[in-house]
Amino acid sequence: MAKNPLHCSFCGRSRDEVKILIAGQEGHICENCVEHAREIIDQELAVKDDKSTSSFKLTVKKPIEIKKFLDEYAIGQDEAKKVLAVAVYNHYKRLQQKTADLNSGNEVEIEKSNIVMVGETGTGKTLLAKSIARMLNVPFAIVDATVFTEAGYVGEDVESILTRLLQVCNYDVSAAERGIVYIDEIDKIARKGDNPSITRDVSGEGVQQGMLKLLEGTDVLVPPQGGRKHPEQKLIKINTQNILFICGGAFDGIDKIIARRIQTNTIGFNVDKELQDNMKKNLLSYVNATDLKSFGLIPELLGRLPVITHLEPLDATTLRAILTEPKNALIKQYTKLFELEGIQLTIEEEVLNFMVEKAMEFKLGARGLRSICESILTDAMYELPSSKETHFNLDLEYAKRNFDKSKLSLLKVA
Ligand code: ADP
Repeated sequence: MAKNPLHCSFCGRSRDEVKILIAGQEGHICENCVEHAREIIDQELAVKDDKSTSSFKLTVKKPIEIKKFLDEYAIGQDEAKKVLAVAVYNHYKRLQQKTADLNSGNEVEIEKSNIVMVGETGTGKTLLAKSIARMLNVPFAIVDATVFTEAGYVGEDVESILTRLLQVCNYDVSAAERGIVYIDEIDKIARKGDNPSITRDVSGEGVQQGMLKLLEGTDVLVPPQGGRKHPEQKLIKINTQNILFICGGAFDGIDKIIARRIQTNTIGFNVDKELQDNMKKNLLSYVNATDLKSFGLIPELLGRLPVITHLEPLDATTLRAILTEPKNALIKQYTKLFELEGIQLTIEEEVLNFMVEKAMEFKLGARGLRSICESILTDAMYELPSSKETHFNLDLEYAKRNFDKSKLSLLKVA
């Protein structure tokens, strides 16, 4: 057979040497060259993006709108939502102002507004950070501060916080540089001090030192695969100046530190008894940088986390609302699951109250609501898809029976 005369006009490969040959007006292009051209375009566009900062168009909602958005996903926590809304708004305003300033020569530097959220586990810290990222449509990564102490190579691994961010945006460096990182369990890297908790890692301070670099906004060399720096890994340079860091932690025992500070501050002053009582009830709402320092965060790190807010413990009313009100509330999810089977699920009011009661009794918080729902509904979800039922009414008796026979009921704390 005669050799096919068609060939790629770019690389010269003949028709037989390629999989696809696309015809143009006066020539052809093969799949390899298309691929190549795509890479060149991506690289060129990335360079342009870096150079013309004005192409950075992030439409940020106003703080009130941000709070409204958060309200759709999280119940209560108004104070934290407000503080977050303002911090995020200012952060992105700062980015836009920088662009404007670059052009005008005006150099008033607005400081970065990294945030610390203090609140018991399961009160919605991660949920709030996640919702913010969802709203802004920026890369968002969750990392756990404790892994950096466990690795043993303190300080070195901290850069891999940014690896997660790079991974979620497919190694698009300019996108990562505008992302949000949620660092969970920041309290676990507190150094041991005069704080009441004794379960803390001694190497915490080293990790905190490592984190400083990330938080302040410099170029950081990031191992693309995470882990420790392997000499053979080609490191990726990321500038952290515009990355928003949100840290969260339960800070067990911080209420005592706050109480001590407040008491010391009010000694000798004629502070209203009622006000004092009120303060005692809402200690967490008075948390400030001094308390976090007493807890064991180093002052340099705190200097880079200027915004501090707190989350309230969840009471029964809030838990009840969490079950049904948020956009992706648990009960809405189960109703949908049943609906997909062609079954209409109805849940009696007393069952919802029972679930809340158990979550409170077993100190499971909002996170426990899911396991409670599972324990009650697993049998139904197992049996009903094979039945001809079109309706399932969950009543208190059924709920109690299933909960009692589940492993969950054994968890009861004395
Ligand atoms: P934290 O980070 O404070 O430990 P999470 O944000 O991970 O807690 O919350 C745990 C679970 O509880 C999540 O599934 C979340 O949906 C739910 N949850 C917690 N607090 C709230 C809240 N205020 N509103 C709605 N859901 C909540």
